[in-house]
Amino acid sequence: MDSRLRGNDTRNMKQEPYKLDVKDFLVKGDIGSREVFVVKAKLDIELDEENVLKSYEGEVKLTLLENEILAEFSINYIAETICARCLKKYKREGRLSFDREYVIGRRVAEGDELLVDKEFKIEIGGPTLEEIAFDVPMKPLCKESCKGIK
Ligand SMILES: [Zn+2]
Repeated sequence: MDSRLRGNDTRNMKQEPYKLDVKDFLVKGDIGSREVFVVKAKLDIELDEENVLKSYEGEVKLTLLENEILAEFSINYIAETICARCLKKYKREGRLSFDREYVIGRRVAEGDELLVDKEFKIEIGGPTLEEIAFDVPMKPLCKESCKGIK
């Protein structure tokens, strides 16, 4: 089992894709090989009218399977949110774990599957934003004891 740590990667991501280069992992790895990538992004993306994603960071653990790469994400993020009681902006921290599979060796995706692209890269920004957007709470509170508007 191979579980090295690869380059720290900070970028300013507006909405462009955030890709990890998995060429070495694919070429050198055997089925069952694992590798951890550290990911980090600063951004400014409106998730909805009340939530702006400011940053995320974490790890993506890759496992090489026969026909795909399994990617297990552990992500912490910070979103600027409006408190449902006092209506003030505050920084909300979230933590998420999720996974995705990237199909190896196919040019055209079927349905909503994700692919390892022809440059041996996988796009992780889209899935990460998707999960963070799902994680927006119905009634965010700046703190549990928030007394509301005074
Ligand atoms: Zn509040």
